[in-house]
Amino acid sequence: MKKLKLVMVGNGMAGVRTLEELIRIAPERYDITVFGAEPYANYNRIMLSPVLAGEQTINDIMLNDVDWYGKHNIILHLGKKIARIDRRHRLVIAEDGTTAEYDRLLLATGSTPFILPVPGKDLHGIIAYRDIQDTNAMIEAAQAHKHALVIGGGLLGLEAANGLKLRGMDVTVVHLPNWLMERQLDPAAGRLLQQSLQDRGLKFLLGKNTKEIIGNENGRVKAVRFDDGLEVPAELVVMAVGIRPNTALAESAGLYCNRGIVVNDTMQTYDPRIYAVGECVNHRGTAYGLVAPLFEMAAVCANHLANFGIGHYRGSVTSTKLKVTGIDLFSAGEFMGGEGTEEIVLSDPMGGVYKKLVLKGDKLIGACLYGDTVDGSWYFKLLREQRSISEIRDVLIFGEGGIEPSGDINPGELADAAEQAGAKT
Ligand SMILES: Cc1cc2nc3c(=O)[nH]c(=O)nc-3n(C[C@H](O)[C@H](O)[C@H](O)COP(=O)(O)OP(=O)(O)OC[C@H]3O[C@@H](n4cnc5c(N)ncnc54)[C@H](O)[C@@H]3O)c2cc1C
Repeated sequence: MKKLKLVMVGNGMAGVRTLEELIRIAPERYDITVFGAEPYANYNRIMLSPVLAGEQTINDIMLNDVDWYGKHNIILHLGKKIARIDRRHRLVIAEDGTTAEYDRLLLATGSTPFILPVPGKDLHGIIAYRDIQDTNAMIEAAQAHKHALVIGGGLLGLEAANGLKLRGMDVTVVHLPNWLMERQLDPAAGRLLQQSLQDRGLKFLLGKNTKEIIGNENGRVKAVRFDDGLEVPAELVVMAVGIRPNTALAESAGLYCNRGIVVNDTMQTYDPRIYAVGECVNHRGTAYGLVAPLFEMAAVCANHLANFGIGHYRGSVTSTKLKVTGIDLFSAGEFMGGEGTEEIVLSDPMGGVYKKLVLKGDKLIGACLYGDTVDGSWYFKLLREQRSISEIRDVLIFGEGGIEPSGDINPGELADAAEQAGAKT
């Protein structure tokens, strides 16, 4: 059978995972060409944080080097950004004029960090945190400068702040909400996290709105001013205030986009020859910013590209961990609770442990753990599988270890533990 031509735009985690799956299940179906705007082969973007923290190197985080593409006869164009899709002639055109024809096109263009539209945003020393280039820029800045200010106290901002601190900078994190990681933690867990990070030397300004970035005579940032008039010195400003799906290319080709390239459950766009996966996608109204859902999309997409026609992507329940060595937190589902829900909370502030489980009827719908996350994956499993927890409700907060191997509960031990830990429901 004559091979079809598959072109992939975007050489990141979601796209390459799709190719890995496809090569595994249908190695002979396509001649594959890949365009990546970055000059690197496929690396583990998640692990940029340990690189910044000095715990790993760029070489450690490569997932597939250039040889991998060669081994699978994939034509790889690195450092080439696709500027246009000609759907009529089924052609992609790169900024430098390179073209490739396709029978199937896979868009995996990821997302771009959002830059606050404040005066001074274009000064030297203001960067986002997305790729190897940003990471190297931060490492260099840490060697030459003293003060860093990170705008955004979410997962990315805190990992950047931790890395810069470990590289010797004096780091302040500014966050608009009143507690850290408000999209993953409730206020109690957020405050425990803040305390741990303060103990490591990070400074925090919460509830602050950035008004202006002030530069020096050389055009480099020297301070950040807030709307209450406070001014904080900074020669490096990292903006970690959110991401936007990269849809410009798809939109210019007339594909339907709405805060992401809109796809159906087989990851097909409005044009059935064109598929999309990863952070660039809007699936059933959600654009995901974590790897696990993107890998689920990749498996489904590969299956349909292989013409097997099995499997649908129906959306994902997500969970989060922070990659700051020595800090354990886990969050999943509807951890804030709300109307019609019940909460089981175990709080031991002196021991630095906080656990909150959110129940609706006999189902676990959310979990927020700080300090002791051993049972995070077990709770996540219960949550995803929507299993009834009515039989184990009283001991649920003590985790999987609280249940006998037979599935029976170990009531004696647990009653003691409950008394000691001050569990309340
Ligand atoms: C520092 C950091 C830490 C993170 N930590 C975690 C974590 O702990 N857990 C987690 O689940 N997620 C984490 N994430 C998020 C995770 O990395 C992303 O969800 C994932 O990498 C997105 O994969 P993607 O393939 O959709 O996009 P990307 O990996 O961004 O790949 C998209 C690629 O497409 C390229 N591209 C875009 N447009 C074009 C074009 N027109 N032509 C050619 N190429 C193009 C881009 O340059 C990019 O290389 C982290 C992200 C960062 C930055």
